[in-house]
Order: sequence, then structure tokens, then C-alpha cells
Amino acid sequence: MRRPRHVPQRSCVACRQVRPKTDLVRIVRTPLGEVKVDVTGKLAGRGAYLCGAAACVEQALKQRKLVRALGVAVGEDVVREIRASASGGARSAEGQTSDRRAMNT
Ligand SMILES: [Zn+2]
Repeated sequence: MRRPRHVPQRSCVACRQVRPKTDLVRIVRTPLGEVKVDVTGKLAGRGAYLCGAAACVEQALKQRKLVRALGVAVGEDVVREIRASASGGARSAEGQTSDRRAMNT
């Protein structure tokens, strides 16, 4: 008998849908006050999560949900990085591949 591995659940700051943490894009405010897209999920700091839907990214940015969740302004370059991550990494400069985003619905 196999038990499913426990994955922490987090909710998207825009649509509030609860998903496994691994399905979400984590944006973190580091202890230094920088905002970063946390691709490893291991950065220290205050995190906010987005489910990766383009609509959620836009909503979170336009309605300042992300800013409120993090408690700090989000810079242009970070916004660009978030958009790149959310759209399946197609525009990611790092060119990282991610199987878990293969199903883009
Ligand atoms: Zn969402």
C-alpha cells in the first residue's frame, strides 16, 4: 500500500484556489526586503503564491494583491519574472524546463 507523498497546500493570492505548493509560483520577500521569484521554493522570507494562470498574475498585480500579501512594492523586473514563470517559463531567460507545467489549461 502506497501513501501519497504529503505536499503542503497553499492558496493563490488572486483566485484563492488551494493547490499543492509545487503547482504554484512562489514570490518571496527576503529578510533584506528584496522581492524575488522563488523557483527553488527554499528562499527564506515572507512568501506569496500565484497559481500560474495569466489572469491571476494580472489580477494580483493590478489589484495590488501581491503587494499586500508581501507588504512591499514589487519592481518591474520582478513583475516580468513572475509573468515569465506563470506563462510556463516560455520567456524565462534561464530556459528551465518544467514538466509540471506541461498541462496548460
Ligand atoms: Zn490563481
